[in-house]
Amino acid sequence: MSINRRQFLKLASVSTILGVGSAAAITSISRSGLEASQSSPDPKGLKAKRWGFVVDVSKLKTEEDYQKCIDACHNIHNVPTLKNPKHEIKWIWKDDYEHTFPNMAEDKIMNKELQEKNFLLFCNHCANPACVRVCPTQATFKRKSDGIVMQDMHRCIGCRFCMAACPFGARSFNYVDPRKDNAIKVENKEFPTRMIGVVEKCTACYERLAVGKQPACAEASDGAIVFGDLEDPKSEVRRLIAEKYTIRRKPELGTQPGIYYVIGGGEHV
Ligand code: SF4
Ligand code: SF4
Ligand code: SF4
Repeated sequence: MSINRRQFLKLASVSTILGVGSAAAITSISRSGLEASQSSPDPKGLKAKRWGFVVDVSKLKTEEDYQKCIDACHNIHNVPTLKNPKHEIKWIWKDDYEHTFPNMAEDKIMNKELQEKNFLLFCNHCANPACVRVCPTQATFKRKSDGIVMQDMHRCIGCRFCMAACPFGARSFNYVDPRKDNAIKVENKEFPTRMIGVVEKCTACYERLAVGKQPACAEASDGAIVFGDLEDPKSEVRRLIAEKYTIRRKPELGTQPGIYYVIGGGEHV
């Protein structure tokens, strides 16, 4: 069943009145559900104190390597493909070294090969998220249990304060109705579509974590994106951060991004 905003509100109100409802539908799209999904009733649900990512760009060699990660995310989340590039909606995308690490762009000593690479970018699920601080409706909020920065499209009033505040361009605004003009080629009926006038972004595949699955981009990446608990010293992400030379985007801004990029092997930070 495809779920849109109107159908959801109807379902939620009926469920509240009757005291029943589809747990799956509600946990997937309501604010209370988004919060509730932090204590997923599914015993297979993945848990962490703070989820994070390590992206090893040396494992992204071809255009297809990048594209399959992007497609995996955008296809399951009904991210529309819109004709006007100014209306682009992106949850995960690629960009060059200069735009990814502008603070290091002038370092001519930096590895030449690295400077010519593209990087996979998505919401950093910052520990100190600028977007959350400015949101007047709490439509964007940091989930207490695992640090995911969530986006509740139903509370969003489209003021775009969060877009101005995010230093990483990780948020997209729906300038046009994404449900029109065949913008979603093959709709995933298990995930809601959005409407004009709301902001959206990567939500760390919270809906997949709740049923024990890895984020779709990590799963599609053949090991280039590793996902895990940044607060667990025994996790794979912590091992990689300890053993490889990693950097984060714009650390000087103090948002404490949860994505680490491997830019060297073997060296300690
Ligand atoms: S990357 Fe931007 S949108 Fe994501 S948590 Fe950080 S400030 Fe918010
Ligand atoms: S656009 Fe939506 S999520 Fe962003 S600050 Fe405004 S209400 Fe919050
Ligand atoms: S974590 Fe999930 S939502 Fe975020 S970019 Fe990867 S696939 Fe998309």
